[in-house]
Formats: sequence, C-alpha cells, structure tokens
Amino acid sequence: MPRDRFAARRDRLIRRLRKTAAEALLVTNETNVTYLTGFSGDSSYLLIGPDQAVLLSDSRYTTQIEEECPGLDVTIRSNRQPMTTIVARTAKRAKLRRLGFESTSTAFAQWEKWNQEIASAELVPIAGLVERLREQKDRGEIAAIRDAVTSAERGFAVLRRSLLEEMTELQAAHDLEHTMRRFGAERASFPPIVAVGPRAALPHARPTGRRISESPFLLVDWGAEEKTGYKSDLTRVLSTGKISSKLERVYRVVLNAQREGIAAIRPGVPCRDVDAAARRVIEKAGYGRHFGHGLGHGVGLDIHEGPRLSPASEDILKPGMVVTVEPGIYLPGWGGVRIEDDILVTRDGCEVLTDVPKEFDQIVAG
Ligand code: ZN
Ligand code: ZN
Repeated sequence: MPRDRFAARRDRLIRRLRKTAAEALLVTNETNVTYLTGFSGDSSYLLIGPDQAVLLSDSRYTTQIEEECPGLDVTIRSNRQPMTTIVARTAKRAKLRRLGFESTSTAFAQWEKWNQEIASAELVPIAGLVERLREQKDRGEIAAIRDAVTSAERGFAVLRRSLLEEMTELQAAHDLEHTMRRFGAERASFPPIVAVGPRAALPHARPTGRRISESPFLLVDWGAEEKTGYKSDLTRVLSTGKISSKLERVYRVVLNAQREGIAAIRPGVPCRDVDAAARRVIEKAGYGRHFGHGLGHGVGLDIHEGPRLSPASEDILKPGMVVTVEPGIYLPGWGGVRIEDDILVTRDGCEVLTDVPKEFDQIVAG
C-alpha cells in the first residue's frame, strides 16, 4: 500500500480535528494507529495535529516501524521511560494546551495517570473521530476486503463439499479456518461459528462436540482476515438431511428480508431504514420477535465497526462504507436461520461483495 494513502488519512483526520476543542489528538487505540500509519505492532501511540504526526513506540519496534512507516516521525522510548512520560514530554515540546484523547478506548485509570503527569495541557475527550473516518473505505481498503471475501469463500466451498456426518461442529470450524489460511488468509476474522440444528438458535453459538448428523441443517458464520488486517463476515445455512417445510418457510422469509435490506442500500439512506426494510418482511411473516439483533454492521479492520444497521441507529450510509446485511430468525429448541453478506455502498447504490450460493435450492451441502 503506498505511503501517501496513510498521509491522506492523517490529513482527513486533521481537518476533522479542527472542528473539535482539541489542538492535537493522542491516538492510543491500536487499530486506529494502524489505520493512520500502517504500523501493525502494538503498545504504540500516535500524537497527531496540524503541526506534528509522531509515533511513540519502544525499541522492539524500531526496525518494523522503519519498514512499515517510512518517513513518519518516531520517538523510541527506552524501557526505563514510561509511555506517559514520553507523551507528556512530546505534548510540552509541541506547546499543546488542549490535547485530545480517545475517550471511548481509554480506561479511567489511564486517564487519571495522564491527568497527573501531562501538566502542560488540558485533556479533551474526543469520541470516535478516527472510527468515523474508518467507516468510509478507500480503494486500497476495499481491495483488501475483497481479498478477505475471496479467501472466506474458497474456504467455505471446500467445507461444504467435505462435510461428513460424523464430523463435529468443532472439527468443521477448525477445517474451515485451516482452509482459509491455505488460501492466503492470515487467520479467521473471528472464531467461526458452526452450529448444528437447535444450536443455531443462539446467534453467537460456540462450536461444540455436537455432530453434523444430529440435525438436518447447520449454520456457519465465518470470515477471513487478510495480512493487512481487513476482514470479511458471512453466514450461510446448509442442509445435511431431510429438508422440512418449516426450514423452507423460515429460510425463504430470511432470504426475502435480506434482499429487501440490500435493495434499500444507497448513499444518503438512514441505516435504520435499511434495518426496517428487512425487519418488515420478518414481522409480516409473524417472526418479528424472533429477530432480536440489528440487521448489520460495518466491517473493516474490526469485525464489528460503524456504521450500525439497527432500529436505533443514527448513522447515514455514505459511499465507501462496507456493511453486513444479516437478518435472522431464531426459534428456541428448533434452530435458526441467518444469511449474511458484505455490501459496499457505491456512489449510486451498492455492490454485494460476497458471492456464495444462497437460493433455497442451493442450501444442500455437498
Ligand atoms: Zn457473521
Ligand atoms: Zn456480522
């Protein structure tokens, strides 16, 4: 990824920072530091303002920073200097009077420490500034997400052909993760969910020793993470036995709901309207109370990030956002159906990035 892409992100951040009460921002959230610098290590902060962008790190990372962030100012602290001391010194040298900090990712104890030691500047809480920038992906980020989608799809294609009746949820999840890595993923973007039958009624089921053969269908929620940290997130239901009329009914409702949700996606649309478009279908079919979560979420460096597609969301869709659309119906004791795809908001509509068969007649594993 060219270095100027990170500089462009920092410029956008500085423009937004000007509208806040802070002169500069201490970026401490690791994912946000990566987004703004390309640095993939941890325990390092970025102090950024109109007149400075300096990465504060330690000697374990000297070489890595040279490789990943050429041209960026760096202060390497010795292991006898606590990070807070370096932050205080840097802020003082820059004559900062109002230093912003990321209030949503700062522990209270950390704030107390800064408050004691950073005497020259007043600390100004800033919430979600970098996170909001991250919601709209640039071209390189979209390409990375496409890669994460491809490895996830290839891994799943192998899994669905190789599912065996005696396999357990845990074995299937392990195989899926392993296959995605073989196809180039750095890792799974989260521990895959493989939930057989009634287990699928739990939206966040952890894989167990339950066997595939114990129920006629299973739910798989999975994704891949690329080397750059970008992620994909998908869900499919596969049938492995006799398909009941109930499964068919529930599946068709969820698929229609997902289609309506996707059809509502374009720039300028409130995220809660997208949620409502899908939710209406499920409610009309009488399953409203069995769809207990929001319709979707942004995906990027984090598996769950902004914007949120939910009834309470205040977010508005913008070009470059990548969101999941994942309606579900969960019936305790029977199971659940969820269908999830990743959607890119384009200038005049949207593009579905994921392409895994989901028609009802395509759910048979094999
Ligand atoms: Zn998912
Ligand atoms: Zn998701």
